[in-house]
Amino acid sequence: MRLHPTAKAESLWVVVNKKRRLNPVAYGPVLHSKINLAPPAASAFWALKAELQRRGLGTLCLNSGYRSYGSQKSIHSARVAALGKVAGENLAARPGHSEHQTGLAADVSITSLECRIGNFGSTDAYKWIAANGHKYGFIVRYPWKLTDVTGYVWEPWHLRFVGKELATEMKNRKIKTLEQFFSLPSAPSY
Ligand SMILES: [Zn+2]
Repeated sequence: MRLHPTAKAESLWVVVNKKRRLNPVAYGPVLHSKINLAPPAASAFWALKAELQRRGLGTLCLNSGYRSYGSQKSIHSARVAALGKVAGENLAARPGHSEHQTGLAADVSITSLECRIGNFGSTDAYKWIAANGHKYGFIVRYPWKLTDVTGYVWEPWHLRFVGKELATEMKNRKIKTLEQFFSLPSAPSY
């Protein structure tokens, strides 16, 4: 049986959340040689960065890109050990369940914030990306007030590359999450 693109780890449309694990679970993408992202996400990141620069909205930087199964496992274990299962898992995905493992997710900020993600949501750069990121193939993957669908609180810094075609279609139809767009079950918890 052929898998739908949302179930294929190497697809630009893959959907990874608390209910959907990557297959194979330790999947690792091909990465760009100059930045820690898969090549299509890397090209889009640089194009977006150039546009923000041109508009005087700051210098975009990558806070966190690809994370391997092994590194996600360490992050998850450390958070759970420090904070307990519930609080720890609110901050760190289980290995195999993180979008960062696809190479298509980019936690971004701007250099004037020293590339820290915390205040990125209040910048003009974020506002521009929220309105125009689809032109570069990006969506804000964890939108405001859709925690019941995505399993994550608002993360303005977490951009997911899905390609211009899908990102633009989602924008035009005002559908904010991949789960809703593809009629997949919501994933508030594991
Ligand atoms: Zn992220």
